[in-house]
Amino acid sequence: MSVIKDNLAHSGKKKLNLGQLLKPHSKQIVFAILAVIGEGVANLLQPWPLKLILDNVLRSRPMEGRLNDLILANVGSDKLALVKFAAIASLVIAAVSALCSYAEKYLTTSVGQWVMHDLRRMLYSHIQRLSLSFHDQMQSGDLISRVTSDIDAIQSFITSGLLGALVNILTLFGMMGVMFYINWKFTLIALSVAPALFLVVYTYTRRIKKAAREVRKKEGEILSVIQEVFSSIRVVKAFAREDYEQKRLEDESLESIEIALRARSLKAKLSPLVEIIVACGTALVLWFGARMVMDDTLSAGSLVLFIVYLGKMYKPMQELSKMTDAYSKADVGYERIREVLETERDVKDLPGARKAPKLKGKVEFDNVSFHYQPDSPILKEVSFTIEPGQVAAIVGPSGSGKSTIIGLIPRFYDPVSGVIKIDDVNARLYKQQSLRQQISFVLQDTLLFHAPIWTNIAYGRPEATREDILRAAELANAHEFIVEMPQGYDTMVGERGVTLSGGQRQRIAIARAIIRDTPLLIMDEPSAGLDAASEKLVFEALDRLMKGKTSIVIAHRLSTIRAAGVIFVVKDGRIVERGSHDELMQSRGVYAELHDLQFNKESGT
Ligand code: ADP
Repeated sequence: MSVIKDNLAHSGKKKLNLGQLLKPHSKQIVFAILAVIGEGVANLLQPWPLKLILDNVLRSRPMEGRLNDLILANVGSDKLALVKFAAIASLVIAAVSALCSYAEKYLTTSVGQWVMHDLRRMLYSHIQRLSLSFHDQMQSGDLISRVTSDIDAIQSFITSGLLGALVNILTLFGMMGVMFYINWKFTLIALSVAPALFLVVYTYTRRIKKAAREVRKKEGEILSVIQEVFSSIRVVKAFAREDYEQKRLEDESLESIEIALRARSLKAKLSPLVEIIVACGTALVLWFGARMVMDDTLSAGSLVLFIVYLGKMYKPMQELSKMTDAYSKADVGYERIREVLETERDVKDLPGARKAPKLKGKVEFDNVSFHYQPDSPILKEVSFTIEPGQVAAIVGPSGSGKSTIIGLIPRFYDPVSGVIKIDDVNARLYKQQSLRQQISFVLQDTLLFHAPIWTNIAYGRPEATREDILRAAELANAHEFIVEMPQGYDTMVGERGVTLSGGQRQRIAIARAIIRDTPLLIMDEPSAGLDAASEKLVFEALDRLMKGKTSIVIAHRLSTIRAAGVIFVVKDGRIVERGSHDELMQSRGVYAELHDLQFNKESGT
């Protein structure tokens, strides 16, 4: 969180607002508002045909009021004609209400879905392009929830809340308006229960929502217990902790039952309570209303209208209080999304950055210093030059800054001071993508995507032909094991696909690099953890890959180091020694010490 806030502090003024998101859909929103108005009016008109029948057909009251004047002028005062009109009006009102409600729901859902799509696209693209320093400090779970649940909250608010609230407010205030218009004193009596009704509906709906949220949270926890156990089932079995894990799940599950029952009991209390309050209101209305009807100060139809409105009143109230919840969720989600979208990249293309030409592969660090956190310097004034085609090894104790050095070359991070030059030009003057397109990586841990081998090898050059891929696999000593797999090159690998051994993964990584054929090659101990047989195959493949390329390799193993033309020894963020293997051995410094230590280990003495 704080990373985002910090970044926000010095970011530009680019603001995301809801209006901007809704603007492309303004036509649909206008139609939806019309539908909402139609729905509200239909809701209000719904008891009017009944009133008409009661007052003007059964009781022969003179027709008064503008609406009635209109009816009189068009239908006449003939009773049968009025009955017919009332019946048809009932149908028309129901039809208008149904049509408007459908249109409103369809249109708002469609706007909600489109806004969700737009937001998802924007956010995903932005997050993917944010610098590694941002990703280092964010938890991926948190980012995932921003792209999924937070966007969902906004979508559901737009779909159900935004215009839904308008329908409810229109209906609620419309009903009150009509009641006041007919008889304001009686309205005050009828509405005397409204505050109680509102209070009950509001507090209960909130409590129900809160309980529902707890249920969902508990379900999430259960899910993560299950996920954790299933994904580390080997550990669970190895330590014979099945019973413990079983109990953990059962405890969570029991807690979830308790919370769910609490939520249910709240829900079960709400509607009887509402009914009682509405019944109190109805009793008051009947008590006073019937007398007023007898005194002829109120028509029977108006009395029925009051009763119907009173019964209908609690629904919009309930919806409105639900809406406050949807709104607050959407608001939180919106803030969280905005935080990410307004975070700027640390590593940016400079305004005049140009595309890197075809590089020769000279790499030069000129007094480069770097830190991840301001108060802990990692690299201190590192300078070195690697000539085109040269193989350079970086050695040193772990934590000394080797990976940091190689991460600066493709500009995963930019140096804090000093300059990195590629082919004698400051790397910052090149567009990042054009620079990275000319660098290949073989790292310790090769990540495979859930895709066929074909696609995995061609990941860095999707336009590669099948022939290119085959050739790369052969050069990488990978072809033999690939053709022995169940579906050869079509075998799915990666998560939930066929698993490959460490050596096989490395050879796929080498094939990936071969197919890219870039002038610069960066490797992080590509033979770490391999047995002798695999190592031999990997080394053969690496020799073919490195031919004619500038190669920078973090090396632990002597076999890798000896192949290097120049060796840089890094300690505490500085280059403390440099030279060829023989030179460094002769000077008897840090390198010779590391060498002897490892030589003794490897020869078993
Ligand atoms: P080496 O590759 O030599 O083992 P690294 O370059 O990985 O060393 O790390 C050098 C130092 O930088 C270590 O102290 C490590 O904790 C720190 N470091 C590495 N990566 C990050 C990061 N992304 N954020 C913060 N500190 C980091």
